[in-house]
Amino acid sequence: MLEKVLIANRGEIALRVLRACKELGIKTVAVHSTADRELKHVRLADEAVCIGPPPSAQSYLDVPAIISVAELTNADGIHPGYGFLSENADFAEQVEKSGFTFIGPTAETIRLMGDKVSAKHQMRRTGVPIVPGSDGALPDDPEEVLRIAWEIGFPVIVKAAAGGGGRGMRVVHNEEVLLSSIQVTQSEAQAAFGSPVVYMEKFLQRPRHVEIQVLADGQGNAIHLGDRDCSLQRRHQKVIEEAPAPGIDAALRNEIGQSCVQACLDMGYRGAGTFEFLYEDNGFYFIEMNTRVQVEHPVTEMISGVDIVREQLLIAGGEPLSIKQEDVVLSGHSIECRINAEDPRTFMPSPGTIKTFHAPGGHGVRVDSHVYSGYTVPPHYDSLIGKVITFADTRDAALAKMRQALDELVVDGIRTNAALHRELVTDTSFMAGGVSIHYLESKLEHEH
Ligand code: ADP
Repeated sequence: MLEKVLIANRGEIALRVLRACKELGIKTVAVHSTADRELKHVRLADEAVCIGPPPSAQSYLDVPAIISVAELTNADGIHPGYGFLSENADFAEQVEKSGFTFIGPTAETIRLMGDKVSAKHQMRRTGVPIVPGSDGALPDDPEEVLRIAWEIGFPVIVKAAAGGGGRGMRVVHNEEVLLSSIQVTQSEAQAAFGSPVVYMEKFLQRPRHVEIQVLADGQGNAIHLGDRDCSLQRRHQKVIEEAPAPGIDAALRNEIGQSCVQACLDMGYRGAGTFEFLYEDNGFYFIEMNTRVQVEHPVTEMISGVDIVREQLLIAGGEPLSIKQEDVVLSGHSIECRINAEDPRTFMPSPGTIKTFHAPGGHGVRVDSHVYSGYTVPPHYDSLIGKVITFADTRDAALAKMRQALDELVVDGIRTNAALHRELVTDTSFMAGGVSIHYLESKLEHEH
């Protein structure tokens, strides 16, 4: 069992991790930049250490500083949250080499899944369905590349093996521009990710984004907690998520969940993880795996009753998984709206001081947020200021609760996207369920 955890993150996820630690009787160490002294979890932690100035590169991404604090404070585990160093294999390696427990999978697994070519390869070996495409990196021979493209069928998408955050990919509609598009993507990939390796996939036209949550202990036990639909996205950023994914047959969900479980067992996966898929015409196609906790994990917690962060801490402490697949009962429906400090029309970030903050409440309403009246949102980090989550027996009831919760929410002093959420939860297509990943952007284009 871990005794003291250093939380290498900020904002709502740092608070989420702190709460789970406290419930388990684990002491906490907050590390923060000079811009983040007023964060809620910094005040609630047993110890707090300032590690640098506001830019992330000099604070939340400063590996030696974080490891030194772990040493100074005698922490035994480090929780990376999401973003920042959470999927950095070198960080995980350094943490373990310095004698601390990295709360996540091994550096080797992070590396394997961090490269999209090796990740797809691993899935193919286990039998997780993948998007049809090139078998690994694209070869140099142009004839061969063209042959692969024709075999897949246009349109295709050229993607950087090391890509992330929705960058490093290009859709190609015909043969004429294929080779030049590959070249551009290669040089962009080299510049942005330090590797020119690209691969090719079938471009799915109207998919949904559906993902599977897993937990594994690295000791031969793994389970899945069903799926989430995160199709409402803008610029590849998720805006609303829900669980379960509407309209997906329980047998198919379980079948795909089982294949993810098998993949975990095959690679000796440890911790919480998410298999992301595109879903089209009743088919699942793996795109990537996130080897960390995700922003949208609460919707799965609501329908499964499993506290995912608590499980992360127990697994890292060496405990075998306490839940078996047959004990997992998914019931009801949960929806999450990400509240961002941004202009609801232009989406420009809107940092500043929150004069008044009132969180909604009531039965089936959960708010995960680090902000409070008088808190100043710094301009240096991502704009997520909280998540409003609702849970009810049915999707319609969870939506009705969300409409009520958003009506109650007050964030004065800065601009937020709450108005956009209020519009989305009364949108007839979204209310019907199952819109594609392009729905939100095309709606915004037509209406705004
Ligand atoms: P990243 O790591 O940058 O998030 P992903 O591989 O997860 O990259 O892809 C990000 C998004 O790009 C997907 O959610 C989807 O919107 C789009 N995308 C990726 N691959 C395909 C594909 N084969 N067909 C259609 N859209 C795709």
